[in-house]
Amino acid sequence: MKPETPRPIRLKDYRPPAYLVDKVDLDVSLDPTCTRVRSRLSVRPNPAASGRSGPLRLNGEHLELAEIAVNRKPLAKKDYKVTDVELTIARPPAKPFTLEIVTFVNPEGNTALQGIYRSNGVYCSQCEAEGFRRITYFPDRPDVLATYKVRIEADPEEAPVLLSNGNPVERGTIKGGKRHYAVWHDPHPKPSYLFALVGGDLASIASTFRTMSGRKVDLAIYVEHGKEDRAAWAMDSLKRAMRWDEERFGREYDLDVFNIVAVSDFNMGAMENKGLNIFNDRLVLASPETATDTIFEHIESVVAHEYFHNWTGNRITCRDWFQLCLKEGLTVFRDQEFTGDERSKTVQRIIDVRKLKTHQFAEDAGPLSHPVRPESYIEINNFYTATVYEKGAEVVRMIEKLLGAETFRKGMDLYFARHDGEAATVEQFIQCFEDASGIDLTQFRLWYSQSGTPELVCGLKYDKAKKTAELEVEQVLPPTPGQPNKKPFHIPFKIGLLGANGHDIDLQLEDGEEVTDGLLSLTKRRQTFRFTDVPSRPVPSLLRDFSAPVNVTIDLDDPDYELLMAADSDLFNRWQAAATYATRTLVEIVRILGSGKSTARGQRYAKALRAAVSSDGLDPAYRAELLRLPTQADVARIIGKNVDPALIHRAHKQLSRLVGRTLGDVLEDFYKSLADKGTFSPDSESAGRRALRNSALTLLTARGGKRDLALLSKHYSGATCMTDRAHALYLLAGIGGKEGDRALQHFYDQWKGDHVVIDTWFAAQAQSPRASTLKRVEDLTRHPLFSLTAPNKVRALIGSFAAGNPVQFNRPDGKGYAFVASQVLALDAINPQIAARMLGTFRSWRALESGRRAQARKALQRIAKTKTLSPDVKEIVSKMLEA
Ligand SMILES: [Zn+2]
Repeated sequence: MKPETPRPIRLKDYRPPAYLVDKVDLDVSLDPTCTRVRSRLSVRPNPAASGRSGPLRLNGEHLELAEIAVNRKPLAKKDYKVTDVELTIARPPAKPFTLEIVTFVNPEGNTALQGIYRSNGVYCSQCEAEGFRRITYFPDRPDVLATYKVRIEADPEEAPVLLSNGNPVERGTIKGGKRHYAVWHDPHPKPSYLFALVGGDLASIASTFRTMSGRKVDLAIYVEHGKEDRAAWAMDSLKRAMRWDEERFGREYDLDVFNIVAVSDFNMGAMENKGLNIFNDRLVLASPETATDTIFEHIESVVAHEYFHNWTGNRITCRDWFQLCLKEGLTVFRDQEFTGDERSKTVQRIIDVRKLKTHQFAEDAGPLSHPVRPESYIEINNFYTATVYEKGAEVVRMIEKLLGAETFRKGMDLYFARHDGEAATVEQFIQCFEDASGIDLTQFRLWYSQSGTPELVCGLKYDKAKKTAELEVEQVLPPTPGQPNKKPFHIPFKIGLLGANGHDIDLQLEDGEEVTDGLLSLTKRRQTFRFTDVPSRPVPSLLRDFSAPVNVTIDLDDPDYELLMAADSDLFNRWQAAATYATRTLVEIVRILGSGKSTARGQRYAKALRAAVSSDGLDPAYRAELLRLPTQADVARIIGKNVDPALIHRAHKQLSRLVGRTLGDVLEDFYKSLADKGTFSPDSESAGRRALRNSALTLLTARGGKRDLALLSKHYSGATCMTDRAHALYLLAGIGGKEGDRALQHFYDQWKGDHVVIDTWFAAQAQSPRASTLKRVEDLTRHPLFSLTAPNKVRALIGSFAAGNPVQFNRPDGKGYAFVASQVLALDAINPQIAARMLGTFRSWRALESGRRAQARKALQRIAKTKTLSPDVKEIVSKMLEA
């Protein structure tokens, strides 16, 4: 057992490790319930550690210790001490020595899915962040870097495929063919969290890649037998990512092989283990019949993300887990840039910003708010958050904005040159950009330590006589847990001023300072920019390209938004204007619902949207984004307090219907003219066409007419790809009735044998806003295809209900909260990491109206009072309830 109240770990307490491990030799003999791990470590005192080295402390959990020897001499019982979390050798040799340890682990009984476990009969491992300590005793921290040689032994029938990090060295059979083995060697020093091992009966597809210096790399993707044809897209994505990293960042791959393995039970999306990436199979397997365009896109971006980690994360790793954003924020930035280059830059930016606002802005507005680099944690698994990942990426993007692309690249080159092979910190990363550019980023560093979403409160004054326009900007920095007062940030603020005809006015500052590319630099709490030679009252286009992760408020009139939607040269901001206009319309409808009053704003917005979406020269994918109304969660976030999700749901329905009716002919035209002709292709242009068609269908269906429902049913039954089929299924499940049930039954019959695709069936039912949904979801937790031990099933059913169904999760009777709380408690005994994730869906509970708030509090208190909570859940629930 861990202590009752786990102690927080703090950044300021960081000390270099007392001992270093230079070489790790592992010999793993796989067995379902009794896997033997023999480890031989080359250990030496760390010269960088202050004073005498003292005792050697090794982390270890859920291990059965069988043998321990120093320099081949077994240790006596009195020479070491074992607890549930640690093994301590009081007086190790003062000179370099060899430590040998034999432990036993139980892969079959490992439902936490950290360390070595079995998924569908396949042995696999997950070590980030602290899983290696569930394999053997080790200084399990990212600043201990070693080379690994790994021998894996198994029953050849059970596990013909044996993989580990690095390059293959040797393989053979022993014991008259009853066992076989493989030896792998990874010459690149790495921290233990990047260790990986796989053993199983898997099929594979293979290919090769020629690197920029002409080296040949063997590539393979391992999947379940019979699913080889679904791995082609992942392979294609991998090769494009490898090429892109060479061209854009000059990064070349450094081993002879690169392997990807798809497993069905996985806590995360995927893991970047050196040379052996392990993936959740829903992020590898795709065919037109089984995967939506969104999944194709996710596969492309996650395969790229994990591959990019080879340099940002593996070659240069993190000194400690507080620096997690150093590898994650940076690598998300890199994968977003990759997808932008492969697809449409503007559409990618819209998708990324939408995701950031939905997840990170919501996180930052609630009790779980924390800085991009947190200063303390109890369970590091709780910090794989939108703030560390998505906001972390925005912080890197801001550096690029402030420095310019060319100088940014110089800074990256310097980072790779200076820190290759090291465990680095955020300070060292920023220092490279200061050294490359000569720009002082002292104030900019606040982005790593101050939490919360800054708000830029702006005002624009126009002086007709002097032809000047004055833009005032104030940084309002809301208090967040533990941070009541904040210093102003250094913010790249990209703007434009539109003249009456919609064209950009040249930006000239009164003091003669040049404005390059519309970029202003904010550094003070209040700043005023006075522009000269402005011929008429301009309409400001603020935060173009979303140049910083902030909220902007400015008092604009409806006609201003209409001009921006129609004419802004910055396509991102054209979309942003449409989204802001839609949001303010929805907020107004929410406010007057039930009051008997009415508003004409919905009608005005719909007309403006009609004009915007019909403009010439726009990609279908971009038009599809214009047609996507803000989500109910987005509206709730903007309202901010006393939120009534039922009212928001009604308002959303009302506006969708209005838009569907006002744009009917345009939408019908999109729907008819963009149907797929010929064979399916996952490329971004074809996907964009399908996205626009499905966006149109959503709004046409919202009209609620008989003809619309018939069209929707036909869309389902006539679908030739999963994109169309799944889209229709979600809509039909939301409508319910005979058509809904028929589609769900049909989908089930077709896909019940496929554990990946069937998740769509669970999710579609969980997201239905109908009143009967909770009952149905409860029943589905007892369905034979559902299992609490399978994270994908939990996410599809319980996650979709809690995070994707605002109206039913937030039922006024509190039963939605009670249900999710019970599931969290049941899960906590099986897989604490996933339990804590599910609990995170309560993050906005304080913003609810008082009745629901009381119900949510009750559910959270029930969890908090439970005696046997894991540290994961305990940490989250305490933060949620802290005043
Ligand atoms: Zn990552």
